[in-house]
Amino acid sequence: MNNTKSEASFDAAQEVLVGGVNSPVRAFKSVGGKPVFIERAEGAYLYDVDGNQYIDYIGAWGPMIVGHSHPQVVKAVKEAAENGFAFGTPSIAETELANLIIDAVPSIEVVRLVNSGTEATMSAIRLARGYTGRSKIVKFAGCYHGHADYLLVKAGSGAATLGVPDSAGVPEGLAADTLSARFNDIEDVERIFEEHGKDIACVIIEPIAGNMGVIPPDDHFLQGLHDRCHQHGALLIFDEVMTGFRISRGGAQKINGITPDLTCLGKVIGGGLPVGAYGASREIMDSVSPKGPVYQAGTNSGNPISMAAGIATLNELTPEFYEGLNGVSEQLGDGLAEIFSEDAIVQRAGSMMTLFFLKPGLADWCIRSFDDADKIDKDRHAKFFHHCLENGVHLTPSPFEAIFVSGAHTLEDVEKTLEIARSFQ
Ligand code: PLP
Repeated sequence: MNNTKSEASFDAAQEVLVGGVNSPVRAFKSVGGKPVFIERAEGAYLYDVDGNQYIDYIGAWGPMIVGHSHPQVVKAVKEAAENGFAFGTPSIAETELANLIIDAVPSIEVVRLVNSGTEATMSAIRLARGYTGRSKIVKFAGCYHGHADYLLVKAGSGAATLGVPDSAGVPEGLAADTLSARFNDIEDVERIFEEHGKDIACVIIEPIAGNMGVIPPDDHFLQGLHDRCHQHGALLIFDEVMTGFRISRGGAQKINGITPDLTCLGKVIGGGLPVGAYGASREIMDSVSPKGPVYQAGTNSGNPISMAAGIATLNELTPEFYEGLNGVSEQLGDGLAEIFSEDAIVQRAGSMMTLFFLKPGLADWCIRSFDDADKIDKDRHAKFFHHCLENGVHLTPSPFEAIFVSGAHTLEDVEKTLEIARSFQ
């Protein structure tokens, strides 16, 4: 595969952009080598600057659930653009997207639209702190909630640990109110509540983890979390930035039957344009400005072009759509699991999945929390990633990420992917 122009583009980018990228994972640090530069995307495919085609399983890290350049989304974006790019005043499209969200997501009666997942989680936590008058938060090791200072905190292992910043530039004081627990370990959560219960404003979790690879919650774990939060007067926040409108129209909360107090959304609800959202009951949301004392604002919030892309995308997400999407996804997941039954496992939730290559002798393991990360064979993952890329399949470039299937992927795309996987030594 000829990558001459991509390589030259990366060299040029490195001169002027930090590390040649605008978001670190794009730089291929986890898998080595140089990223390919994409010029165009359509349906299930990416096309790079050298004219190579790839079956795309990045899906822009989740938003492109209906596939790239979907005709209805393109039409909606073009129409919106012709009417102006931004108004800085209320517009009807904001109410329309809000209604689509409220109709679908069980926990949301009132919503605030923002510009990214990071803004959504950061604002939801401010709201939880403002509403409860408490300062501490609990997160789970390996869950990613965007890059707000106090969320970039090292994983605690075993018993609760006080937060230690995971990034330079985060003062210890800012991280100190973040407590971390082990995913799928309700006893760890209990220990934290016993020690800090009256100070905990909220627990934030990816209800199906996607940022340490796909890890579904064990039976009763989310219910246990819900009950502990309510026992201690803390709010439960589901970060559904990745799972919202992907796992089902109502997100992970709909299929798990657990209703959190607050929900964060992003990715799919913008159809590929920048959007985020947080929402809750009217009573909780009434604490947000201009109604209440918790301040939060945004020049670009509710941008009409993002609204148009989001509305057009959500309108495609019918029960039949999910049935087709999950069916294709199942074929891919089952196929990969069969091919790599000796040395890897597939953990899948609907149309997101991770192929975890495991260290020798661990093929019977499943990955249940970030503590299991040391069981993963990162070198083998990197080799598989490059084998796929060289053969026209673009996976996500990290062993701890989900790959995303879209409604544009066909069974032929899946069969081609599996054929390439079979040829990996
Ligand atoms: N929350 C989750 C679960 C995410 O997966 C992400 C991003 O990947 C974020 C929050 C942050 O969203 P954004 O990158 O739009 O700021």
